[in-house]
Amino acid sequence: MSRVYNFSAGPAVLPEEVLREAAEEMLDYQGTGMSVMEMSHRSKAYDKIIKDAEQDLRDLMNIPDNYKVLFLQGGASQQFAAVPMNLMKNGKAAYIVTGQWAKKAYQEAQKYGDVVAVASSADKTFSYIPDCSDLDIPEDADYVYICENNTIYGTKFWTLPNTKGKDLVADVSSCFLSEPVDVTKYGVIYGGVQKNIGPAGVVIAIIREDLIRDDLPASVPTMLKWKTQADNDSLYNTPPCYGIYICGKVFKWLKKMGGLEAIKALNEKKAKILYDFLDQSKLFRGTVAPQDRSLMNVPFVTGNADLDAKFVAEAKAAGFENLKGHRSVGGMRASIYNAMPIEGVEKLVAFMRKFEAENA
Ligand SMILES: *Cc1c(COP(=O)(O)O)cnc(C)c1O
Repeated sequence: MSRVYNFSAGPAVLPEEVLREAAEEMLDYQGTGMSVMEMSHRSKAYDKIIKDAEQDLRDLMNIPDNYKVLFLQGGASQQFAAVPMNLMKNGKAAYIVTGQWAKKAYQEAQKYGDVVAVASSADKTFSYIPDCSDLDIPEDADYVYICENNTIYGTKFWTLPNTKGKDLVADVSSCFLSEPVDVTKYGVIYGGVQKNIGPAGVVIAIIREDLIRDDLPASVPTMLKWKTQADNDSLYNTPPCYGIYICGKVFKWLKKMGGLEAIKALNEKKAKILYDFLDQSKLFRGTVAPQDRSLMNVPFVTGNADLDAKFVAEAKAAGFENLKGHRSVGGMRASIYNAMPIEGVEKLVAFMRKFEAENA
């Protein structure tokens, strides 16, 4: 068996320790004689799995009691519709468009109400985060929406927008659990787990209780009402049981690593290795405004598409997988999520240094 260094943006690398544990428990989960995949979601064993997962996430993020934690299906994209369906009272919302995922959410929300883009960084191919300190947010906006870490473009909101008192909704798919967060600054935090936490399909939504309403229009699908899910502790129907089980293991792994302060320090260290190299390289350069750089997704280019392709191919042959940039931007992107070991980044930089020398 040999494992590569997987720089995929998602689904992405998971802690090897978690995968090993899951493998060991595959056929017989803790004496139940069955796999978690084969288990009733109403069983005692599964009840403990999902309750522990929620508690561990609450501990890690310090989630206040007046926030519900929901484990849902449909990925982050399903919430692009669920957010306006659940939150629109006045039928109005403000979106900050900082990349493709924000844009998709913005476009989806337009189906349900009057949605304004109050800021955008489309003018410079989403390579920066716009100044959001004094935006023209409509008086009657039901919420302000951001994509906090832009997976494709490699930017991150290091300062949350001034929402002028409106509830902030954030898609944190690609920065989930990468650093401590003050949950009270948000109305809703949600993210698909396949970037930093677990298997694709699961989306976790952390929602302030007063935003979980039972006065929604009858046309809102039962499954998309947060109220349905909250009233049933994410067990209204069969949840993505196995995926949630893996998420739970990753939460325990994070706790063992020292929690979110510790993982942030490690993430900063890893990102610094890569950005420091890019900043002095004569061949490679980062594409993002330095103050807005993500710790998770690092896009870079040589400026020559053929050379980019050569790099990606040679890197793959050397055991560095999935370094090709998103199809919409080209170049390269190294996603260095929580589970990417620091050695992976060090070895990648050594490889880039060698490539630079050979192709100068
Ligand atoms: C990957 C990603 C999504 C889409 O997630 P799905 O689970 O495939 O719907 C949405 N937002 C962000 C920020 C992402 O990185």
